[in-house]
Amino acid sequence: VWNNVPAGPPDPILGITERFKADKSPLKINLGVGAYRDGSGKPYVLSAVKKAEEIIRASNPDHEYLPITGLPELTNAATVLAYGANSPHVKNGTISVTQSISGTGALRIGAAFLARFWPRGKVIYLPTPSWGNHQAIFQDAGFEVRQYRYLDSKTIGIDFEGLKSDLLGAEPGSIVLLHACAHNPTGVDPTEAQWRQISDLVKENQLYPFFDMAYQGFASGSTDRDAFAVRHFVSEGHQIALAQSFAKNMGLYGERVGAFSLTVADAEEKARIDSQLKIVIRPMYSNPPLHGARIASTILTNPELYAEWETEVKGMADRIINMRERLYDELTHTHKTPGEWGHIKSQIGMFSYTGLTPPQTSALAEKAHIYMTSFGRISMAGLNNSNIDYFAESVSKAVKG
Ligand code: PMP
Repeated sequence: VWNNVPAGPPDPILGITERFKADKSPLKINLGVGAYRDGSGKPYVLSAVKKAEEIIRASNPDHEYLPITGLPELTNAATVLAYGANSPHVKNGTISVTQSISGTGALRIGAAFLARFWPRGKVIYLPTPSWGNHQAIFQDAGFEVRQYRYLDSKTIGIDFEGLKSDLLGAEPGSIVLLHACAHNPTGVDPTEAQWRQISDLVKENQLYPFFDMAYQGFASGSTDRDAFAVRHFVSEGHQIALAQSFAKNMGLYGERVGAFSLTVADAEEKARIDSQLKIVIRPMYSNPPLHGARIASTILTNPELYAEWETEVKGMADRIINMRERLYDELTHTHKTPGEWGHIKSQIGMFSYTGLTPPQTSALAEKAHIYMTSFGRISMAGLNNSNIDYFAESVSKAVKG
């Protein structure tokens, strides 16, 4: 029956993990997957998460369905986390929000809602490069996906002139996807001054900003600082859409906790949009999962757990920043690796675009058992005190050829 179904290409990131698993060398390192690892290379369960689970267990919870838009304690707390407790939208209740199947689900709900109701066409601009799934998510929702320049491959920094000219030249009324912080895959973020300019030109060209915030807290260690772009846009009077994920900042990857929200004009508009979000979601998955939502909302609404969580997020961010500094020093000073490596330190968040080329990354896999995407993106979280010397030495050899 299924002769018409062609084999699709494997997922590029998951393919790396398969090759890593098949490698029997004790030296092997997996820098492909975007999940935090602790100082000994192990998955990390946050202490705030463990305590929240104890509180939940002690409350003897049932397993009834959640409402279509999820656990209200979670969605309220998620808007406070993103927009800030002092945001007029939070105070006035002018945010339409729903729980989502993590960040991917939030993007997918947003894409479906905008495809149905955005009045000015179905065009979205993504940065080049962007997280690989963005294109598929928006295409599957019926959008025409276009690009705006983002990474300057020569400096491995932001191509700000290219970005400005592409956003100014974009079709007015289009949607623009912005990574709120810790841009994936590059680790290159605009400065606050650059965000102010982006906000102005998004306004000037009447674009609609859709923020993807999958790493709040993970970039700088401060959830407030990482929300700068979102809050600045809102304070400048933009109406925005926002996808949030608790996968990285709470280590709740497989629990699939997130939120999708839209700022709206008033209570009457909110009521209309809330009703349509339910109509979008109901035939997709009816209602969201409960356990992760309970964990995240317990942490966000319990002051002691919240404080502990903030310390742990900062701990994760700091460990990554420390690995960036170590790697830079080893490459530049210990191994005198040809080239300029400052970008390793200036990039932010889970990922780094190293500038390694496909021949160099395949040499690293074959000769040194080190796995990363072919275009040289590494997950900094995969590095630790036990493997960073070997990694730097191997990179240096690959670059020297
Ligand atoms: N957006 C970006 C930019 C991401 O990097 C990720 C995770 N890799 C996501 C969204 C979504 O992740 P999740 O669905 O696990 O929350």
